[in-house]
Amino acid sequence: MKFGGTSVGDVAAFERVLGIVASQVERRPVIVVSAMTRVTDALLAAFETAKKGEFAEAFTSLEPHFERHVEVSRHFIPDGTANPFNGEIDLARGELSDLLMRTSRRSLPLSMLKDAIVSYGEQLSSRLLAEVLRARGVNARQFDSRRLIVTDDEFGAAQPIWEETRELVRLDLGPAIEAGEVPVLGGFIAGNRAGETTTLGRGGSDFSAALVAAALDAGELQIWTDVTGVMTCDPRICGDARTIPVLSYEEAAELAYFGAKVLHPKTIKPAVDHGIPVRVCNTFEPAVTGTMVVSESGRSPNRIKSIAHKKNITILRITSARMLGSYGFMSAVFQVFEKYRTVIDVISTSEVSIALTLDNTAEIEKIVADLSRLGDVEADPGYAMICVVGEGLRASTGLASKIFSTIEDVNIALVSHGASAVNLTFVVKEDLVPMVIQKLHGEFFGREKDGAAAGDQ
Ligand code: ADP
Ligand code: ASP
Ligand code: MG
Repeated sequence: MKFGGTSVGDVAAFERVLGIVASQVERRPVIVVSAMTRVTDALLAAFETAKKGEFAEAFTSLEPHFERHVEVSRHFIPDGTANPFNGEIDLARGELSDLLMRTSRRSLPLSMLKDAIVSYGEQLSSRLLAEVLRARGVNARQFDSRRLIVTDDEFGAAQPIWEETRELVRLDLGPAIEAGEVPVLGGFIAGNRAGETTTLGRGGSDFSAALVAAALDAGELQIWTDVTGVMTCDPRICGDARTIPVLSYEEAAELAYFGAKVLHPKTIKPAVDHGIPVRVCNTFEPAVTGTMVVSESGRSPNRIKSIAHKKNITILRITSARMLGSYGFMSAVFQVFEKYRTVIDVISTSEVSIALTLDNTAEIEKIVADLSRLGDVEADPGYAMICVVGEGLRASTGLASKIFSTIEDVNIALVSHGASAVNLTFVVKEDLVPMVIQKLHGEFFGREKDGAAAGDQ
């Protein structure tokens, strides 16, 4: 059972989590928890402040967040009894002060310090949740994920080393579960072989949960969040978004990758490999089933399951007559991206040009400089990708035309269709996202189509 940040934001949220865990104790759960909401952002901001040399400001900025943890622990752990969380938070204060000081002096590699600092969100939330569960009579125990999930040395976006992780998770958690304990782990955080703290990338708690579920051959992976499952589009963009009852792994992966942050893209992989069903459910509506992600979902009557989007996209266009009838050109282009470790999302090519999209522009100047040796290069920021997902989409006649005629007044900068059987992706100017999504959502999931709601089988 994975609980996201908003599910552990305050006393009321913890209360809901307690109810949900208590109702499933018989099923022998393992709990994976994110940092309390806003804490990861606060830790990252403190790191940036310390980096500028402003140590005192960095440290004080965290105090309200320490206080939020203390408030929850005071609420659940009765006065007069020893509160083990007090010692934990004091320790965290001391260690974070030291790490922020080192950051301001740059006395250790910054990427390493950043992961060490940001890990306190999950270190604290997991300890807090374990203590709160214990106070309510659940036989819970915190386990340190940094000793269980083994990764490479890529700080900030570390890759787990599967065999070692599996072994450790089974060795440590197996006997505890057998003995009737409920293990509680922080998501997102891990450790490399040298024992240094690493993190799995933003939103990575889902990934942690999937790894643990796969390692233990769990019967189900439950992702508890603040919306009722995966919906027909981001409910923050379109108020009448609806829950999709069943999604295939492939559809969920495409959606997650193209911006539906309700599921972390990599979540899917360990679950698929081990045939573990994933359920996305809402802490605010625990009785509702939410979305089941299964190996095959079947087609939905109106063929489209959901519309995802991803902002902050830059389009790169490379034009060169050298491309005409020659081979090796694409490979030369891709080598530039490999050199700068930059991921390409969507590609479209013609006889003499390539257009592609990037969401990580950290190395864009160097990339453009290198690509300029191959042809004329244009970089155009300020775009967004919109991704329409549905099983059987490639095989459906007339669907692309229906999509584009719905938004015929919108300028489409790039289209990708056919590579995946389940998605059609196009790129538009960022400020058009709400309008485009609302129009498409209205057309495919509007009120008059209630009978054919997304995912009806
Ligand atoms: P958590 O803290 O539980 O990990 P996230 O904020 O990472 O939660 O993900 C949940 C959010 O994802 C929702 O509040 C919603 O705004 C957003 N979201 C984007 N696309 C979708 C979608 N298709 N269905 C549901 N939620 C979506
Ligand atoms: N706390 C981390 C983040 O905010 C990981 C997660 O919530 O999944 O990105
Ligand atoms: Mg998330």
